[in-house]
Amino acid sequence: MRSQPPEFANVVLDSLTAHIAVLDAEGVIIDVNEPWRRFAEQNQGEGRGAYVGQNYLGVCERAARCGGEETARDLLEGLRAVLRGERDSYLVEYPCNSPDEERWYIARVTRCQQRGESRVVVAHEDITARKKAEAALSRTEQALRKILDALPVGVWLMDRSGQIVQGNAAGQKIWAGARYVPPEQFGEYRGWWLDSGKPIAADEWAASRAIQRGETSIDEEIAIECFDGSRKIILNSAIPLHEDDGRLSGAIIVNQDISARHQADEELRRAKLDLELANRNLQLALSREQDAARTDELTGLCNRRHFFDLANQLFEVARRYRQPLSAVMLDLDHFKRINDRFGHQTGDEVLRLLTRMVAPHLRAADVFARYGGEEFVLLLPDTDAQYARGLVERIRLAVAGQRLETGRGAVAITLSAGIAAMSEDDERIDLVIRRADQALYAAKAAGRNCALIFSPAAASSAAQNTLAT
Ligand code: GH3
Ligand code: MG
Ligand code: MG
Repeated sequence: MRSQPPEFANVVLDSLTAHIAVLDAEGVIIDVNEPWRRFAEQNQGEGRGAYVGQNYLGVCERAARCGGEETARDLLEGLRAVLRGERDSYLVEYPCNSPDEERWYIARVTRCQQRGESRVVVAHEDITARKKAEAALSRTEQALRKILDALPVGVWLMDRSGQIVQGNAAGQKIWAGARYVPPEQFGEYRGWWLDSGKPIAADEWAASRAIQRGETSIDEEIAIECFDGSRKIILNSAIPLHEDDGRLSGAIIVNQDISARHQADEELRRAKLDLELANRNLQLALSREQDAARTDELTGLCNRRHFFDLANQLFEVARRYRQPLSAVMLDLDHFKRINDRFGHQTGDEVLRLLTRMVAPHLRAADVFARYGGEEFVLLLPDTDAQYARGLVERIRLAVAGQRLETGRGAVAITLSAGIAAMSEDDERIDLVIRRADQALYAAKAAGRNCALIFSPAAASSAAQNTLAT
């Protein structure tokens, strides 16, 4: 452009938005471009019009006197310094309000030579739009600052090197007492992963991973030891920031202090554990109590009451599915004599021995209970009377062949048994038990150490025999 003819340079100068004037060494305006001329015409009424031939120092002096504006004086000083050759250039931004608009200008004063003569170029440019944008940005920044400080979570803006650019009040409170530590020294914050309790290494902090590897982390639960020795539990998040071309530019870190909530949770968890433990102990005590209520202390067998609970259930199942069910009453023979001869304790031992001897002959579904004293009952599901007798015979023979050695000699034991099977007419288990009892009676009458199946005839003759004796 510099090689173009002067007319071309004029067109360029006139098409600029800046108002440009050339002054001589005294400050007299010797040339202006078209925007300068238009401005001078428009502001003539307010005395701001400055034309070719006028001394620009005078114009500025008037402006400084009338408006009293500091910037007009500044411009005047700068202009004089350049005209005197004390400086090569001068630059000032100043407000220049019109009656209906706030405006700003920037003035550039530059010294130059024209065909051996000293000249000064003065250029004014309207920077109102930029100034307004700056003011708007500053207002937005202030609002943002207030929002940041009002947030209940800590927010940090970190640059690529890990330097903190912005932080808020909540963040400062969370890290209170902790000086800023650059990312390569993050390990200086003594922190642990809350779930594993392992220390956090310098490059494992969410902030490090965000600015070094571009990783996003959300709500990592960590424990930190502050420099005053206190411990805090915080939720730590980091979101990497990128330049337009995709390069990492920094990160936003968000921290939330959940120490109080965590402690409340912990207390609640402990209270829940205590409650569960108490509950378990209670359950245990209850089940022990229930077991005790169901069990015969001497033999460990079901007691009579629990026997009837089970028997009623087995009876109902057998009836519904029309399956056989047999009951057996077992009674030790002349047990009283054993007690009398060997003592009550030996009698007890005999009862336990019998219990041990019967058990191996039974299936899991069979019920074996102490009916009372030296009397026992068996309930055998899916078993008819004949099969039950076979089983009882095996038990009877095993018991009869067994001796219990004591200090006072060997104790011989025998037992008698009565067997009854459930019939279709039976409406309750008691009836079956009663028939088994009658058969036992008959077995005793028949001389003991035998097992009999219930028969009405045998039962009535046994009853008559007893009546006769
Ligand atoms: P039978 O052959 O007619 O059945 O005669 P028995 O002596 O076995 O029958 P009886 O009913 O006359 O006597 C039962 C005895 O069992 C009386 C009682 O002292 C004893 N007895 C009951 N419960 C226990 C116990 O828990 N331990 C001991 N050692 N003896 C018991
Ligand atoms: Mg007896
Ligand atoms: Mg008896």
